[in-house]
Amino acid sequence: MRYSAWSLLRGALSGHRHWEPAWADVTRRSNYDVIIVGGGGHGLAAAYYLAKNHGVTNVAVLERGWIGGGNTGRNTTIVRSNYLFPESARLYDFSLKLYEGLSQELNFNIMLSQRALVMLAHSRHDLDSMSRWANAMRMNGIAAELVTAGEVGAMAPALDLSPNARLPVLGGFVQRRAGTARHDAVAWGYARAASALGVHIIQNCEVRGFTLESGKIAGVDTSLGPIRADRVAIAAAGHSSVLAKLAGFRLPVTSYALQAMVSEPIKPILDTVVLSPGTGAYVSQSDKGEIVMGAMLDLFPSYAQRGSFAVKQAIITAVLALFPSFSRLQLLRQWAGIVDVVHDSSPIIGPTPVAGLYINCGWGTGGFKAIPVGGWTFAHVLATGKSHALAEPFQLQRFIDGRLIDEAAASGIAH
Ligand SMILES: Cc1cc2nc3c(=O)[nH]c(=O)nc-3n(C[C@H](O)[C@H](O)[C@H](O)COP(=O)(O)OP(=O)(O)OC[C@H]3O[C@@H](n4cnc5c(N)ncnc54)[C@H](O)[C@@H]3O)c2cc1C
Repeated sequence: MRYSAWSLLRGALSGHRHWEPAWADVTRRSNYDVIIVGGGGHGLAAAYYLAKNHGVTNVAVLERGWIGGGNTGRNTTIVRSNYLFPESARLYDFSLKLYEGLSQELNFNIMLSQRALVMLAHSRHDLDSMSRWANAMRMNGIAAELVTAGEVGAMAPALDLSPNARLPVLGGFVQRRAGTARHDAVAWGYARAASALGVHIIQNCEVRGFTLESGKIAGVDTSLGPIRADRVAIAAAGHSSVLAKLAGFRLPVTSYALQAMVSEPIKPILDTVVLSPGTGAYVSQSDKGEIVMGAMLDLFPSYAQRGSFAVKQAIITAVLALFPSFSRLQLLRQWAGIVDVVHDSSPIIGPTPVAGLYINCGWGTGGFKAIPVGGWTFAHVLATGKSHALAEPFQLQRFIDGRLIDEAAASGIAH
């Protein structure tokens, strides 16, 4: 069923009784061509592009909870492509371009809002590093603008720009094509489109082990029983190293809690994304009106999806220093997700030491923006056995060759 103004009208006239489930409730097969472990954005996008770009439709996505219930449904929804190195710029800008056409492609409104992202400079040092950053982006063919404090104020009038502000704003830099998208819609849109092409989406199915035959992958053991496949793909974000351990190899990944919070909803006050790299805080306003506040990582590895009080306190302090009027808001919700941080802050997309087993992980604090390209390039290697050109620099092999892509400066904090 295609969604359109006409189908909405038809729904309204018929008491909304004709809507079909967005993805099919399937009876699981005993054998698939490809099994994808993890029903987050990356796993679902990979399933969709496997079917759409490569015609591989005998695919199952196995999700231990509900789809999008991991980091995909927990993030602060910021999309951007302001990275430093050419390899990352190519990867993330391809993703942003896919996002720009995704609602039409999936026939599902992902509510992309390119409301711009402004990074705040609180010191001369910040200004210097931002001009280097913006120049690097321009060299990579991605528009970026350095802006004055006055221009920042015009974009976010609620910011405290007074001379004696606790966090002075000297200027900043802007990516106008950056913004936000509805995170659940990205997961649901890919799930619906993949399901329509024949992909099986199986929820409440935890992968507990891998079946190997003659050193090659032959399937997975799950909470619902064994399922066979000669290609298995891991897209499990914060739990990638747990799954790698089950398969018998190690990843250069550390897992941390990353938290976010929202205020009660208020009328529109902020129509851009504001990020303060110096404090680790970033702020936007959701379509529902909540002020969405993101934080830096907890400073210790953990699988507890809580987020520490110290980080919460630091972020709220920074947000209130930047936007004093927000001190009157009530905090509505706080949550965390477990993110997988690679030592060079860049992702891993490609084969593993186990033949037939592939991995997409290491997106750390910033993989929501990369869901389209993560899925696109992962599907390519799963279908062809060869890495996509965009993903070639992001192989696990780089930790053996020493060809790291250190994006800590551009992705060191969340968003
Ligand atoms: C608070 C927070 C804010 C963030 N903000 C942003 C942002 O603004 N912009 C941005 O670009 N990124 C952001 N991120 C990062 C982004 O959310 C992630 O990088 C991205 O969602 C990763 O997607 P994924 O599909 O790889 O992982 P997930 O969405 O976590 O999906 C992995 C899935 O694997 C499942 N799984 C795990 N183990 C198993 C198993 N054994 N068997 C079966 N299933 C399993 C999990 O249940 C989960 O659903 C943020 C993250 C957090 C936590």
